[in-house]
Amino acid sequence: MKVLLVEDDVALARGMSEAMSREGMVVEHCHDGPSALQRVHDTGAPGAPGAVDVAVLDLGLPGLDGLSVLRQWRSRGRSFSVLVLTARGRWSDKLEAFQAGADDYLTKPFLMEEVVTRLRVLQRRQVGLPRPVVHQGPLSYDTVAATFSLDGQPLVLTAQEQRILAHLITRPGALVTRDELVRHVYARDFDPDSNSLDVLIGRIRRKLAPHALIHTERGRGYRLQHDHAGPTPD
Ligand code: CA
Repeated sequence: MKVLLVEDDVALARGMSEAMSREGMVVEHCHDGPSALQRVHDTGAPGAPGAVDVAVLDLGLPGLDGLSVLRQWRSRGRSFSVLVLTARGRWSDKLEAFQAGADDYLTKPFLMEEVVTRLRVLQRRQVGLPRPVVHQGPLSYDTVAATFSLDGQPLVLTAQEQRILAHLITRPGALVTRDELVRHVYARDFDPDSNSLDVLIGRIRRKLAPHALIHTERGRGYRLQHDHAGPTPD
């Protein structure tokens, strides 16, 4: 999950970025309104390289306030989920944020766990999953706790492995391109060589053994699917 964090409090943003990274999220930080607009203008189209999945948006920002940023994102058709995070706690402030296109609202001070949980819920709704736990054969993924289990046993994964598998299982049966996976595993300015993705996929496959859940579409990408009956001739 790629998170765009727009927050001008540098210490707060650093702490939040670290916490979200520990939770398996790829975080980019903008510290003022104009750069948040530019960031989304450059690469914000859904499916574009570097597109964000969810944004955490402070309202009091230098250059351009958060509500104006949000209105401009929406008027340009950007549909990613936005969690507004602000010290302003009056109902009229919340109403105004929702009217500008916010999906959720949290008042400072807040618990980081709550931010992370709300972002995961927003992302789950964004990809259209109705239930918090996703199953694919022997593999289960709890989208709120961000934990996997295989055959009912906890599955231990590194942060990168977790990001890849979470992305695949929340799009069951769909072809996920290599570019798309790379975007969700690495930060925008990191240019991974193509080999490292294969290495990561190989490691995940070994952890999922003996179940063959990740299928390679040669030259295109990967698909996570549990096939009950094995390959069916047709
Ligand atoms: Ca602020």
